Amino acid sequence: MNISVVGTGYVGLVVGACLAETGNDVICADVVESKIDGLKRNILPIYEPGLEDLVERNQQDGRLSFTTDISKAIASADVLFIAVGTPPDEDGSADLQHVLSVAREVGKHMTREMVIVTKSTVPVGTAKKVATEVGKSARFPFHMCSNPEFLKEGAAVDDFMKPDRVVLGVASAFARDVMAEIYAPFVRTGNPIIFMDIASAEMTKYAANGMLATRISFMNEIANLCERVGANVDMVRKGIGSDSRIGPSFLFPGPGYGGSCFPKDVKALVRTGVEMGMGLQILAAVEDVNERQKLRLGEKIREAIGEDLNGLHIAVWGLAFKPQTDDMRDAPSLTLIDDLLSAGATVCAHDPAAMKEARHRLGDRIQFAETNYDALTNADALVVITDWNEYRHPDFNRVKDALRRPVVVDGRNLYDPEKMREHGIRYYSMGRTTVEHAAPERVGEYA
Ligand code: NAD
Repeated sequence: MNISVVGTGYVGLVVGACLAETGNDVICADVVESKIDGLKRNILPIYEPGLEDLVERNQQDGRLSFTTDISKAIASADVLFIAVGTPPDEDGSADLQHVLSVAREVGKHMTREMVIVTKSTVPVGTAKKVATEVGKSARFPFHMCSNPEFLKEGAAVDDFMKPDRVVLGVASAFARDVMAEIYAPFVRTGNPIIFMDIASAEMTKYAANGMLATRISFMNEIANLCERVGANVDMVRKGIGSDSRIGPSFLFPGPGYGGSCFPKDVKALVRTGVEMGMGLQILAAVEDVNERQKLRLGEKIREAIGEDLNGLHIAVWGLAFKPQTDDMRDAPSLTLIDDLLSAGATVCAHDPAAMKEARHRLGDRIQFAETNYDALTNADALVVITDWNEYRHPDFNRVKDALRRPVVVDGRNLYDPEKMREHGIRYYSMGRTTVEHAAPERVGEYA
């Protein structure tokens, strides 16, 4: 099948490469020339495990090509995926200008009956708006499909190749048949394609991200409460996660959710509620809790070394919003770094993948270290903010020796508080109090 993908970012590139891998002829188009030039030479604009191989192989085999010529991509497509960005507008709603500008081009340049797929995360009603724009100049029949993407950055290729489910919102048998054929190779193990109406597919993506963000904010509040009452959130997490109605994933406390999806999708859903005359109270609270949570690491540093951070130097391990990606959009590390710098501290940071992106965003506002140990030199505290595997088992003697004060603030609960105590490190983590709240004689009373 001839497939074109307009928008070659995290989603568009993964979608294009994976669809080429299953034998389709795929053109990926983007307006950013430098990105397309790089991709033609197999230089990827993003870090995503497994993607480079896929791009190189499929480009070599002639199934995958890149262009800045959007009209050419449209003209040769039986199926066109729109995967451009939908950033938040000033009022929090999804900004559809890129989606609709692609739609305007589609009508002008299509050369055959086609399926137009909205892959970008877009509010209910967007497929209709796209259809209206296309219809203004279309000379061939077209069929809309809403196909929200559920891939996780850091595991995007795997997620696309082996999806839990594929959601397809369609309004015609033509679109249904074409999309079923495209996705057949990805659901051979029996995971379902769920067909539904277009509005429900559009809503499904927002509801999924809203639910996941809710779990994160819920657990962050529970973690904060655990600290107050002397409970251990790791135990609580295991205790509730083993209940099959709850399940174990997305129960880890941390420095607040970030990335390109949860913050903007929660905002957009809240905004849709406002537009429909109903406040979405739970999601509004989820956002508030998250904003507060992003300040928790700064609070913990102050708890550890005092309110006045002026002139202090802080080491930061991790900049990306999560491991296995270089994406720093809305990363909690940015909130922490702003907080530290405005308090007069200096920062030296390390990240295995996001240093280039961080340099681009932060310039010389902070220092960057070649290795995670280099970042520790003369630091008054270490803050761990992204749970990269390589931070999980550091040499704590080396950590302690390099730091000016033996203070570690861990936003991801990577380390064992008892072991940290044995190493002589003052250790602060999330939802695991370091203070003994239950006096021994009281324990006897409960026994
Ligand atoms: P991105 O910013 O990485 O990529 C978007 C690309 O679209 C950019 O390369 C940009 O240059 C290009 N673009 C913008 N306007 C264009 C136009 N008129 N013509 C051609 N190209 C154009 O964004 P992303 O992370 O890939 O997200 C894309 C969409 O997918 C968003 O709606 C997002 O919410 C959704 N989504 C993202 C993820 C994720 O993990 N990143 C997961 C699921 C869904």
